[in-house]
Amino acid sequence: MPVIEVVLGDITREDVDAVVTAANESLLGGGGVDGAIHRAAGPRLARAGAALAPCDPGEAVATPAFDLDPPVRHVIHTVGPVWEGGGYGEADVLASCYRRSLEIADELAARRVAFPAIATGVYGFPGDQAAEIAISTIRATPTNVEHVRLVAFDQATYELLASALQRSGR
Ligand code: ADP
Repeated sequence: MPVIEVVLGDITREDVDAVVTAANESLLGGGGVDGAIHRAAGPRLARAGAALAPCDPGEAVATPAFDLDPPVRHVIHTVGPVWEGGGYGEADVLASCYRRSLEIADELAARRVAFPAIATGVYGFPGDQAAEIAISTIRATPTNVEHVRLVAFDQATYELLASALQRSGR
């Protein structure tokens, strides 16, 4: 079971084997965290993404990390649910994003993985529910990943993730 840490910062600065990006189905790059990761990784990331697109919501695919600083070797692109009120399976899709990303990390033998707060930006998923789903899904997914770093970009998200982690008992 991985050690889960909640940190505040920019995911492009994380010292991990793989960073997860909150992509859209085109895998060409977008705004928010995906834009930041694409800028840091350089234009080859969008070309590699295009070759694997489209990616369904709840799914994940991996590319090299290109110009991201070592030790980061992989970008795992996962597509979150667009929040439409909660009655359209959004929670299951978000859980699948975390689960599939960990499965891909295992295929890559990545031991340290950083996640952003998937779907809580432009896609509109409520941060408190998203934090619970992130923690509970990571806990429930069998994986060889040893360290999961949940990277919040703002204080409010940090606090939601930290309290969800505390409630889950570690
Ligand atoms: P989505 O479209 O899945 O909602 P967003 O990128 O809009 O994705 O937002 C997801 C989360 O990523 C938000 O909490 C946002 O504040 C955060 N975020 C934006 N830039 C960064 C970054 N450089 N590092 C980590 N998190 C970031």
